[in-house]
Amino acid sequence: MSNFAKTKPHAVLIPCPAQGHINALLKLAKLLHLRGFHITFVNTEYNHKALLNSRGPDSLDGFTDFNFETIPNGFTAMESGDLIQDIHSFFRSIMTDFLQPFGELLTRLDASATAGLIPPVTCIISDCYMPFTVDAAEERALPIVLFSPVSACCSLTTSHIPKLFQNGVLPLKDESYLIDGYFDIEVDWIPGLKNFRLKDFPETIKIKDPNDFMLKYTNEVTNKCQRASAIVLNTSNELESDVMNELYSIFPSLYAIGPLSSFLNQSPQNHLASLNFNLWKEDTKCLEWLESKEPGSVVYVNFGSVTVMSPEKLLEFAWGLANSKQPFLWIIRPDLVIGGSVVFSSEIVNGISDRGLIVNWCPQEQVLNHPSIGGFLTHCGWNSTTESICAGVPMLCWPFFGDQLANCRFICNEWEIGLEIDKDVKRDEVEKLVNELMVGENGKKMREKIMEFKKKVEEDTRPGGVSYKNLDKVIKDVLLKKI
Ligand code: UDP
Repeated sequence: MSNFAKTKPHAVLIPCPAQGHINALLKLAKLLHLRGFHITFVNTEYNHKALLNSRGPDSLDGFTDFNFETIPNGFTAMESGDLIQDIHSFFRSIMTDFLQPFGELLTRLDASATAGLIPPVTCIISDCYMPFTVDAAEERALPIVLFSPVSACCSLTTSHIPKLFQNGVLPLKDESYLIDGYFDIEVDWIPGLKNFRLKDFPETIKIKDPNDFMLKYTNEVTNKCQRASAIVLNTSNELESDVMNELYSIFPSLYAIGPLSSFLNQSPQNHLASLNFNLWKEDTKCLEWLESKEPGSVVYVNFGSVTVMSPEKLLEFAWGLANSKQPFLWIIRPDLVIGGSVVFSSEIVNGISDRGLIVNWCPQEQVLNHPSIGGFLTHCGWNSTTESICAGVPMLCWPFFGDQLANCRFICNEWEIGLEIDKDVKRDEVEKLVNELMVGENGKKMREKIMEFKKKVEEDTRPGGVSYKNLDKVIKDVLLKKI
């Protein structure tokens, strides 16, 4: 039973159907469950099947007051590699295919509640990239919280883009907006973002056609954020203070309630700890392999669930890692390489076999928190970034798209807890930076710095901390409104 109400509150949570989005929202679902909420977590049929494949058919049984429901896929039943190649269809499908089945699901939940099987739905928490949910909530007069799974910095950029088009700053006309690749901040620009280069922004900033679908979609997300009962972000005021201050002026009902990993790290024994969502089967043998390594000695390499790369780039990373002579654990997703898998030559295999382990997918947070891990070569997804901060592991950054570009800028320049690898990656650079990170002076400084951030976010997410208080406030003021 909730600390806050006599009737059990019932939250319906719906993520955008992609691995990183699901992971982040699942963490919030667990936190709310720990605070007494009955949870309905909504997946697409395709993703739910993948979840059952990776966990086993009965693996979701036995979680009291935590139910999974599904809605049809629309056109989003795509492998992650396909997804990136057809991102327009993915978001178009979200705009057109999901409202009706989501409404039908809410009606079914109402019927189950009337039959006394579950508590009545009292609030909806939706990924902000699923903007149709605001219509569904308004139709039923339910409070709706939009959850942003990306950095505050990315949310700020996204919310400004329509305005930048309206006032003529976008589309960028010529290079006069740039000084040495940086934006001239004297122009009517995005307050709160300083010293950003054109390459640090999500692709939407480079769109030329004001009628482009992605702009319409971005606009829709921003408009729906204005209508939501509240917006919550998986960040802390500490991590992105200038950006958060700016965002508060746009969205008054905004709460930084992260990093969620830090919240959950503080209650590791909870009965939902084993409830993880993977579209690929986890290889847990890598944890045994890590046991055999010296503390802080292993580079962990993982480009997340969506990044793809050419076989040539994969080889540059492979040679760079081999030549660095540092031990590494490398996650190569089955669809990471464009055009299929790459078979390494015997020369590379000989170069890495005694020090490297390659697997398809791993329990990332457990890996990052393993004492043998000393550095993380990452694509800078927001989950990976926050999980690395929460584990106190400094980073090598090779951002791929979207918010990862801005996250990389924050990691390397604002927070100084990482080093950037050039987009056109070369083996010599990988070798040099891996060594700098793992055994160099620079790496030592970054390690000390990221440990300070780890402590700060732990304070933020403890009772009395700012993120903890924010979560309490959003629960009391918004999520329990219908109780
Ligand atoms: N992840 C994992 N095992 C892997 C790779 C990734 O558990 O081998 C998880 C990781 O912990 C994170 C999510 O998948 O929670 C990836 O999200 P992120 O935002 O970092 O990147 P995206 O996949 O969205 O690009």
